[in-house]
Amino acid sequence: KTLFLNGRYLPEGEASVSVLDRGFLFGDGVYEVIPVFGGHPFRLDQHMDRLVRSLAEVRIPDPYDREEWIAVFQRLLEENPGGDRSLYIQVTRGVMARRDHAFSEGLSPTVLVMVSPIIPPDPAVLEQGISAVVLEDHRWSRCDIKAITLLPNVLARQQAVEWGATEAILVRNGQAIEGAASNLFLVVDGVVVTPPKDRQLLAGITRDLVLELAGEAGIPVMEAPIPADRLREASEIWLTSSTREILPVTRLDGSAVGDGRPGPLWARMHALYQDYKARLREGGA
Ligand code: PMP
Repeated sequence: KTLFLNGRYLPEGEASVSVLDRGFLFGDGVYEVIPVFGGHPFRLDQHMDRLVRSLAEVRIPDPYDREEWIAVFQRLLEENPGGDRSLYIQVTRGVMARRDHAFSEGLSPTVLVMVSPIIPPDPAVLEQGISAVVLEDHRWSRCDIKAITLLPNVLARQQAVEWGATEAILVRNGQAIEGAASNLFLVVDGVVVTPPKDRQLLAGITRDLVLELAGEAGIPVMEAPIPADRLREASEIWLTSSTREILPVTRLDGSAVGDGRPGPLWARMHALYQDYKARLREGGA
């Protein structure tokens, strides 16, 4: 397995980063994950726009222009052939001379890009759905930035797993915000609802595509805050992310969502999404 680290293409086992890297000591960095289907990166422009925005928001200089980034991705995809894969991109503020919170002079970002296989969802998951639990959102107030600092997300996901669930739905000030690593959709009275983009949640690329595909198909969609007690009234709950697509949540805190089966609107959205992926594989999306 070959990865890209600071301008070099290296076998994974030979790549290393200093212990004084600000990513290691402070979680001072941002990342991006781009799925690749049939060799075609999925929504590349949108993912790159989000990376550029994350970097700018945390004041890390973007080390490359877009053509340079894309050249790195192409070479890594050639050197790591396979089926469906994802590109993981991480940029930290760089290596310090000594541990100091403030940015020191002359830092140059540490850049890592690596390729991982995408594990397709278990067919049982698409048949039966997943379970989720509701947890308090303990994250910071800039969840719109795709920061590598993921401790609250890690603890929430682990709590979910320990309670036998797949994902945690995070609630802040009485509002359901998103999953620990996914965006949230509800179906209420036949309308698909997702919280509006703001600083409380990550503007998911899959989220935007779901809104786009639903709109094109004439499925009613609405961006609106979701009071946490609405979760129990929803006939369907979905969680979306680049690597896990659209997952139907059929159990919430141990109780059935709707009739406890993946719902009809989820099935339509899932099909639209698979069509979109098939077009991308043929190079047309
Ligand atoms: N919210 C959070 C907190 C996430 O970590 C992710 C996954 N990166 C998402 C939402 C979904 O975003 P995307 O569809 O771009 O993968």
